[in-house]
Amino acid sequence: MYKLTQNSSIAGNWISPTGEAFQAQNPATQELLAEHKNCLESDVNSAMKAAQQAFPAFSQLSPADHANFLIAIAEEIEALGDQLLEVCNQETGLGLPRLTGERGRTTGQIKAFAEIVKNASWVQASIDTAEPERAPLPKPDLRKILKPIGPVAVFGASNFPFAFGTLGGDTISALAAGNPVVVKGHPSHPATNELFAYAIGKAISRCELPQGVFSLLQGNTIPLSVQLVCHPLTEAVGFTGSLSGGRAIMDAAAKRAKPIPVFAEMGSVNPMFFTNNVLAQSGESLAKALADSVCMGTGQFCTSPGVIVIQMNDSFVNTLAESMSANAKGTMLNAGIGQAFLKGIEQLIATGEVEWVNQAQENLESSINNALQPPNVVLKTSAQAFLQNTQLQHEVFGPATLVVECDDDAQFAQIASAFEGNLTATIHATDKDTYLVKQLVTLLEQKVGRIIFNGFPTGVEVCGSQQHGGPYPASSNASTTSVGIDAIHRFTRVVAYQNTPEQLLPAELQNVNPYKIVRRVNGEFSSQSI
Ligand code: NAP
Repeated sequence: MYKLTQNSSIAGNWISPTGEAFQAQNPATQELLAEHKNCLESDVNSAMKAAQQAFPAFSQLSPADHANFLIAIAEEIEALGDQLLEVCNQETGLGLPRLTGERGRTTGQIKAFAEIVKNASWVQASIDTAEPERAPLPKPDLRKILKPIGPVAVFGASNFPFAFGTLGGDTISALAAGNPVVVKGHPSHPATNELFAYAIGKAISRCELPQGVFSLLQGNTIPLSVQLVCHPLTEAVGFTGSLSGGRAIMDAAAKRAKPIPVFAEMGSVNPMFFTNNVLAQSGESLAKALADSVCMGTGQFCTSPGVIVIQMNDSFVNTLAESMSANAKGTMLNAGIGQAFLKGIEQLIATGEVEWVNQAQENLESSINNALQPPNVVLKTSAQAFLQNTQLQHEVFGPATLVVECDDDAQFAQIASAFEGNLTATIHATDKDTYLVKQLVTLLEQKVGRIIFNGFPTGVEVCGSQQHGGPYPASSNASTTSVGIDAIHRFTRVVAYQNTPEQLLPAELQNVNPYKIVRRVNGEFSSQSI
């Protein structure tokens, strides 16, 4: 069993930072946990220098060695055994079954990246051979591929301490592309971060790689985050978290002398549309299933359904309200998130346009002293109010949903076109709704990254065809995904080689095609040599 030290790790060395102290809290018991200290700017500098030094060797690993490294990380995570689950449960209150599932998802995604790294298939090789006889000008030989971008800074979210944490999708996709990573650990779960730093340190040693491939900086101050984003050696940022945090990091990156790409995955209200026909057919069971989806993980999912669009239907709304009230109260991830949830509800009510639906008001008032266990909340508003006030579209992170009541189908379409960017949108409909559904799909394609039919947005399958990202404010860049193997493309840049001798080309572009990858050759996809 690993003995926790409350330290940070810079290029394989455990350091005792000397900044301000901070403590995580066990959200279930409210017990304050071990004290950690913030890293300082000098620590950021050491980590980034080590990352830069590690970059040339790491980025040139053979596909087999690179894939073995990723597999070693997954194995070292598994080797942490129950300690990882128990430590994380103490810091997050997420529960062992949920954390066991999330660990499987995390090691599964690492193995999926190892697979595409091993067969070198992610580089999008493209070759246009020369036409020296072309008139009036000869055509040069041009070949291009994706290359790693350089040291990447990663910020994880508190609600997915494994899948979007220190060794989550951002870190693994950056490493898979051949980039060293410096993580600013989430201060809600510092011991979990430390365990992951220990696991990756072991994998680095096992594979005899430069230790600068990974560093973990612990801390909870905004200056530390900004110093990491603004360090001149940082080439890109992966961020998962709140809109306010993501926006601050995007703005800091944009102000740098040399701006860098920031891939920020932020909050979302994940609208769901239920047609009259589907509610007539199965309104009661849908209302119950919806309540379960909103309360899943105490509503602390980026894909939680925060806005429900229906036509007037008291029976559906009442069943939803009863089911939400009947669902057990959950535990919020930390006191700050609990307080932000209460404040978010208060702000919606303060608009004067939103009504309480279930009996949550009294419970909410009595929660002021225990924001860690708030009630499950259903609110409602009219379509007209929703269209006039964009504040009603803001994510309230936690177990709450806002029902928007429309007068007719035309208002459904108006609401769909009024949405800001979201991760997902869901449509529940029957065969009788074809015209309305087509209209909604056309509008929602402009607004979200994933459209779900007759299902729920919670539960994100990790696979090649997944899209987890949407137009701003859901993400900073809607043309990428943070889940699934295509997440690797974020931390790359394109390099083209013109009239380059065969022996100087990257292996993936050489005529012999040593890894037998599929390439676009003169417009045709082929795995043949040239
Ligand atoms: P968070 O508070 O934004 O924290 C994420 C990271 O950003 C932390 O390391 C935090 O460090 C840092 N940070 C926050 N505010 C900052 C600022 N103003 N300047 C610099 N750094 C800052 O996020 P969270 O509360 O842990 O996560 C919940 C949110 O994440 C929800 O909104 C949820 O929807 C979203 N989320 C989105 C996805 C997705 O894929 N789209 C997935 C999971 C979660 P400090 O705490 O030290 O400031």
